[in-house]
Amino acid sequence: MKYVLVTGGVVSGLGKGVTASSIGVVLKACGLRVTSIKIDPYLNTDAGTMSPFEHGEVFVLDDGGEVDLDLGNYERFLDVRLTRDNNITTGKIYQSVIEKERRGDYLGKTVQVVPHITDAIKNWIESVASIPVDGKSGPADVCVIELGGTVGDIESMPFIEALRQLSFSVDKENFCLIHVSLVPVLGVVGEQKTKPTQHSVRELRALGLTPDLLACRSAQPLMGNTKEKLSQFCHVPVANILNIHDVPNIWHVPLLLRNQNAHEVILKQLGLVSNSTPPELQGWTQMAESYDSLMTSVKIALVGKYTDLSDSYLSVVKALLHACVACSFRPSIQWIAASDLEDESERMTPEAYAVAWETLKSSSCILIPGGFGDRGVQGMILAAKYARENKVPYLGICLGMQISVIEIARSILGMERANSEEFDSETSQRVIMYMPEVSKTHMGSTMRLGSRRTFFQHPGCLTSKLYGNATYVDERHRHRYEVDPAYVEKLETSGIQFVGSDESGKRMEVIELPNHPYYIGVQFHPEFKSRPIKPSALFLGLILAGTGQLEGYLSSLSDTKSEAPQ
Ligand code: GLN
Repeated sequence: MKYVLVTGGVVSGLGKGVTASSIGVVLKACGLRVTSIKIDPYLNTDAGTMSPFEHGEVFVLDDGGEVDLDLGNYERFLDVRLTRDNNITTGKIYQSVIEKERRGDYLGKTVQVVPHITDAIKNWIESVASIPVDGKSGPADVCVIELGGTVGDIESMPFIEALRQLSFSVDKENFCLIHVSLVPVLGVVGEQKTKPTQHSVRELRALGLTPDLLACRSAQPLMGNTKEKLSQFCHVPVANILNIHDVPNIWHVPLLLRNQNAHEVILKQLGLVSNSTPPELQGWTQMAESYDSLMTSVKIALVGKYTDLSDSYLSVVKALLHACVACSFRPSIQWIAASDLEDESERMTPEAYAVAWETLKSSSCILIPGGFGDRGVQGMILAAKYARENKVPYLGICLGMQISVIEIARSILGMERANSEEFDSETSQRVIMYMPEVSKTHMGSTMRLGSRRTFFQHPGCLTSKLYGNATYVDERHRHRYEVDPAYVEKLETSGIQFVGSDESGKRMEVIELPNHPYYIGVQFHPEFKSRPIKPSALFLGLILAGTGQLEGYLSSLSDTKSEAPQ
């Protein structure tokens, strides 16, 4: 196994994840099989209990792992399916060591950070690196490891030490260290400053790791003398100094790296032979360039709770982007805080209320993403009602589907108290209920999680058509509540159709409104499996409907049945 370690210095938020995934893309384009590991030096076992407000979205994997959003970047960029173990946290490592200690595996020994924690980290990396993630058998050729945080943080010290030991034990040609750093420009003179990079490389070297390459983030391209200075003071050849300057969209990053011959330097470092022709990256080039030239935009109202931090809905945003590019439109996401749509909300100011409604009404489609807790629920219900009554294309994801069911029960069936047990545990019209098998005492990893199969009950329904006339589809889940099966029959009298369910036929997965141009609610999260060149079917449907292209698209689809939609 060849390892490419990506560390970060100077400041956080440098786009280390995008850099690391782009390196993976370039190596993959050289014909190598690439996997990845993200290390998060926090004590949470996984990201499942972390707030999207603080940490961005919780990404969900096929195996139900609730992980850092960077794993989403890897899956999208490398088109792989990772496992929960590809995300290492301090919490997981300590948990495994403490469990072993309790079992008596270290009997007689004092259990310490070095060597026990560091050994556990090394073993974890080595065993996870060999899990195939690209659908082929046997381990990948290269494992890209991204160390979260900034070099020098107290939290990441055991990881740095473990990685130092790993670099030593696997031999020089199996290990390549890329340090991502920032080159800021100060003052009117506009000089590119190398000192922060020098300091962070010094810090890294003091910990026993020497970077083979530098990836310098900067606003403008690095100047020749800046590179020379960096080379001299950081002990890295000029050819090994990559520059990731600001680009119009992130799909340019792999191209930028390829244009700087990053692949050659990395392959050389890893003792691999480089093909004389540079990797083509045709798909990436086309995507990056066509996105830049998109002129017409489509307004998508995203009505949610965590709208102040766009990373909270990162995969939804990416899935919209993929779908828009496929439809040749530039996405114009209109962030609407659901509570601003409520006239009785405490947060509401008359101006915010007016702006929120104006924005909603001027959008071509409406999306309500997943969420937890009751803040903004009333606003979401109003948005879903608006979409239904005004025939605006609508996609409700997880909470968004539950909202639709509540709205329809209230407005059409006159069930005034219709609610989810999540928001009103006492309601007599509990259309959304707590799932019986989900724990009521433990929050971590106890939801219905990961890839589950949805069977289409109504052949020929819009959702099945969009999935290529599929009879079933596997999508990822993350929820505690579901439509109460006891209400399904009654709910259907409103005109709503439950067109997809799990294998029992009782757990509702998909709703549609047949007399509406595009009104779909899903209990699963289609955003997690959307890929740049393979947009998620339901996002594509939403944008096609919002831009008046759905009819044409549907009639162009052949009616061959797809048995394996994935
Ligand atoms: N809070 C809802 C549930 O737990 C919806 C979850 C979600 O949208 N991911 O079922």
